[in-house]
Amino acid sequence: TSFGFKDVREEEKSRLVGNVFSSVASSYDLMNDLMSGGLHRLWKDRLVSDLNPYPGIKHLDVAGGTGDVAFRILERVSSVKYRALQDASVDDLQEETKIYVCDINPNMLNVGKKRAMERGLAEQKSLVWVEGDAEALSFDDESMDGYTIAFGIRNVTHIEKVLSEAYRVLRPGGRFLCLELSHVEVPVFKDLYDFYSFSVIPAVGELVTGDRNSYQYLVESIRRFPSQDVFASMIADAGFQKVEYENLVGGVVAIHSGLKI
Ligand code: SAM
Repeated sequence: TSFGFKDVREEEKSRLVGNVFSSVASSYDLMNDLMSGGLHRLWKDRLVSDLNPYPGIKHLDVAGGTGDVAFRILERVSSVKYRALQDASVDDLQEETKIYVCDINPNMLNVGKKRAMERGLAEQKSLVWVEGDAEALSFDDESMDGYTIAFGIRNVTHIEKVLSEAYRVLRPGGRFLCLELSHVEVPVFKDLYDFYSFSVIPAVGELVTGDRNSYQYLVESIRRFPSQDVFASMIADAGFQKVEYENLVGGVVAIHSGLKI
């Protein structure tokens, strides 16, 4: 490949991924906004509106270190108040809501915890921060109503393991949702996007973080990630039913979903 990452070994991959997220944790928000033109916020909103979480949900957000997805879920769950008029138990249900944020990198979890404090959510018992590996989750079988992973699955070593773990921890009826940078096939737009990702992103990454290699690696990892259809069939192979995906911005990102029956 053009960046010499072709023969990257697994340890090397883990090390590079680790470097990206340790060195970038603090400038992480800024880079997300710069690279996506702020769109990542809308994409995460879309993910959470697709999930449609409800009071009392037991939800697992994997690779969720910074809390971006978890805060949106909590906000949406907390806004479900209308039923309280007829049904006082909605308040009790709100208290039973649990959103587990699992991330392999304690630095990222610390960013999330800090942001929770800034948002006045330090005492919020619904948020649970857990250090752990998406490929070997510490949660019980069939313990979750929902599972999300946003911009996380692309960087793992074994995608299949992540999917089978997602399937294991979901209860029957539980939903899997994945937001990930994907593949643009729209003519002309594809050329613009290629230029943007191969030329602009590493340059901006270097300017902001001083770390060009990590961003070249990120761009390369987008290219290596399976196409929308291949990824959908991997989700089905893990056991999920009703597997679908939706492209956003012509496939710059895609939201894949599946149901455990
Ligand atoms: N979900 C957040 C968001 O959308 O802003 C964070 C995405 S960030 C690009 C990727 C995250 O995946 C990092 O926090 C990293 O630590 C985490 N990660 C990488 N490999 C992981 C693994 N095997 N298990 C759990 N988390 C992992």
